[in-house]
Amino acid sequence: MKGDEDMITGYFRPRTLDEALALAARTDGVVVGGGTAVNARPDRRPVVAVDLQALGLDGIHEEPGRLRVGATARLQDIVDSDLVPDVLRSLARLEAPSTIRNAATVGGTIGGGDPDSPLLTGLLAYGAIVGVARVGSKARHPLDAVLDDRGLIEGGIITDVTIPLVERAGAHGTGRTPMDSPIVMAVACREAGGTVRVAVSGVATRPVLVDPEQLARLDPRGDFRGSAAFRSHLADVLVARALAGVGGSERA
Ligand SMILES: Cc1cc2nc3c(=O)[nH]c(=O)nc-3n(C[C@H](O)[C@H](O)[C@H](O)COP(=O)(O)OP(=O)(O)OC[C@H]3O[C@@H](n4cnc5c(N)ncnc54)[C@H](O)[C@@H]3O)c2cc1C
Repeated sequence: MKGDEDMITGYFRPRTLDEALALAARTDGVVVGGGTAVNARPDRRPVVAVDLQALGLDGIHEEPGRLRVGATARLQDIVDSDLVPDVLRSLARLEAPSTIRNAATVGGTIGGGDPDSPLLTGLLAYGAIVGVARVGSKARHPLDAVLDDRGLIEGGIITDVTIPLVERAGAHGTGRTPMDSPIVMAVACREAGGTVRVAVSGVATRPVLVDPEQLARLDPRGDFRGSAAFRSHLADVLVARALAGVGGSERA
């Protein structure tokens, strides 16, 4: 409890996905991954916490042409995994300090949808697909769609993320300090067939996929970390660097 009006009326640590889904579907159910964002948010309504940590959804597995990362894999598990491409490991490391990384999960990072998230930006560029389970159904959605429409995960549980393995990837960001959240970050991925996807953070209310030839259409909002004009300039420079790092600009 954080104040007079905050009220956690129940705490559940279900052992099966079905049990967890039934709890998550309650109007007062709040899914908890690592809890680093949920616990920092002053909720003003009675809630029951549905802690996912006993579901065994924390594996990182290699499958043909892709990785499957469980929703409760911690950010530090990503940083430490030899299976995960180096670019994504670095982006997970940039996400938060080690104290947070050892609790925060991949599912919670997607659920939180932080507009400056380096890992989300990387996952977008990789073309990640999010597995979402609900009572009686399972679906898979592109991360881009999930960031666009939170209704795709509300009342459900993110179970895993599949990450296509790409031929080359590169990330370039600018922050106030090397370990601060980047003001703007660009991540480019080149698939084996030659198509390239580019994602950028810090230029919209969430990380976005961009057409490198249409960057002038971005309309970033300025704040204390960087004006709109500075962010636009960073996007130009950082996208060009990320594209150069993957060897060209053919678009997906
Ligand atoms: C000191 C501090 C520094 C931070 N710095 C950063 C930062 O630099 N960059 C950044 O992006 N974030 C930052 N955060 C925010 C937060 O730590 C991250 O967003 C983190 O990745 C959230 O992961 P989590 O597992 O702890 O999420 P939780 O707090 O457990 O959940 C976050 C949201 O996702 C939902 N959720 C969680 N798991 C699932 C699931 N499997 N299915 C469906 N919904 C789910 C929750 O209901 C909640 O709405 C910071 C937080 C703190 C306290």
